[in-house]
Amino acid sequence: MEYDIIVVGGGPAGLAAAIAAKENGIGHILILERENELGGILNQCIHNGFGLHTFQEELTGPEYAARYIEKAADYNISYKLETMVLSISEDKEVTAVNPKDGILQLRAKAVVLAMGCRERPRGALNIPGFRPAGIFSAGTAQRLVNIEGRMPGKEVVILGSGDIGLIMARRMTLEGAKVKLVAELMPYSGGLKRNIVQCLDDFGIPLRLSTTVVKIHGKDRLRGVTTAKVGDNKKPIAGTEEYLSCDTLLLSVGLIPENELSVNLGLDMVPATNGPQVDESMQTSVSGIFACGNVLHVHDLVDFVSQEAACAGKAAAKYIAGGLQEDKGIEVTGTQGVRYTVPGFIHPVNMEEEIILRFRVGNVYQNNYISMYFDEERILHRKKKIMVPGEMEELKLKKSDLDRFPALQCITVKIEEA
Ligand SMILES: Cc1cc2nc3c(=O)[nH]c(=O)nc-3n(C[C@H](O)[C@H](O)[C@H](O)COP(=O)(O)OP(=O)(O)OC[C@H]3O[C@@H](n4cnc5c(N)ncnc54)[C@H](O)[C@@H]3O)c2cc1C
Repeated sequence: MEYDIIVVGGGPAGLAAAIAAKENGIGHILILERENELGGILNQCIHNGFGLHTFQEELTGPEYAARYIEKAADYNISYKLETMVLSISEDKEVTAVNPKDGILQLRAKAVVLAMGCRERPRGALNIPGFRPAGIFSAGTAQRLVNIEGRMPGKEVVILGSGDIGLIMARRMTLEGAKVKLVAELMPYSGGLKRNIVQCLDDFGIPLRLSTTVVKIHGKDRLRGVTTAKVGDNKKPIAGTEEYLSCDTLLLSVGLIPENELSVNLGLDMVPATNGPQVDESMQTSVSGIFACGNVLHVHDLVDFVSQEAACAGKAAAKYIAGGLQEDKGIEVTGTQGVRYTVPGFIHPVNMEEEIILRFRVGNVYQNNYISMYFDEERILHRKKKIMVPGEMEELKLKKSDLDRFPALQCITVKIEEA
């Protein structure tokens, strides 16, 4: 079966990409989703706070997803649920499997990757101790509580202060559990400031920075954990250990793009994001393969996922019409505190009036300047009161600015003290 565009993943990114492709004249689109409903991770995020930018409203995750699902239905966009994509080839042959059709061999003129991300597991942390029941990733606990109606436990310690951990601290408290501590290895939180205030401060839940879990107690069921302060080298400081009894440990220690399909496809990958390298059109290093959403880089806000995905869907439509230039383009890099930029390449000829350059910083910066250089020339130097790793930053880049530098080879974004 041949399609114009196959979208892998039916979360907010996949839905927004498919909708944008349809709005740009593409008829034959198929979304493949491994779960039994569309909406992605939003289906388990029943708290509000979604859609402030897109709809100027505070929606819950399922409400936000429903707006896109309804639009996809209005546009008659086809989808297959319980369908896991197993591989994608450079010539855009997609192999998938589901219980109804068995193995599916599909072809497309363009493919949009929108597989989202997954949580870092306990195995990645090397915490000594047995493997008792009661240790969950924060997202698994969220699914248990919000979708399956089960409580993971009553006395909780959370390791990691990423947004999912913060949201689960509040969720577990509202469901009657006692959250004793959120411990964070870094000297700053990994989550959004608004989540620290609304999920911890408002409920009197302590957040202890530069602290980790050094031992897990209990053999069949978790009985407690030992925490310790860590030094600048992130190693536990002897003598700072503290025992906390608990029956549940939630891990919120990072998200990793679901990048197996991207890697097997041979896409150029960016070590700092674990996602593929893309240009201004969200096109990867393989012609006609686009990527967007959390599979590209982990976002804090779904609104920006939808924006980026709409750009990918629109560009995929343009690609099919033969309208995308694909030579090397201008390189965009982050340095001096800027961990990465998306996109990593720009073809001014493909650009609309302006594009948004997104990036994350690697540390906390107060009253520093964010600067952008076109080759050696500094063209932007803006003071920012605070920049933190947990909050994505952005800069606007105008086509008219780029047109003034026809021989430009490299755009660099960096942090400067003055
Ligand atoms: C706990 C939590 C709380 C959040 N809170 C907020 C908030 O308050 N406000 C806000 O704006 N944002 C929030 N976010 C962020 C937002 O939900 C995400 O940025 C957004 O859902 C990412 O969209 P996505 O489509 O890239 O990924 P996902 O939503 O993860 O969707 C990816 C989809 O791809 C599917 N898939 C993966 N691999 C395959 C495959 N091989 N074959 C077929 N299908 C596949 C998955 O099943 C999934 O449905 C939160 C996220 C989490 C996890």
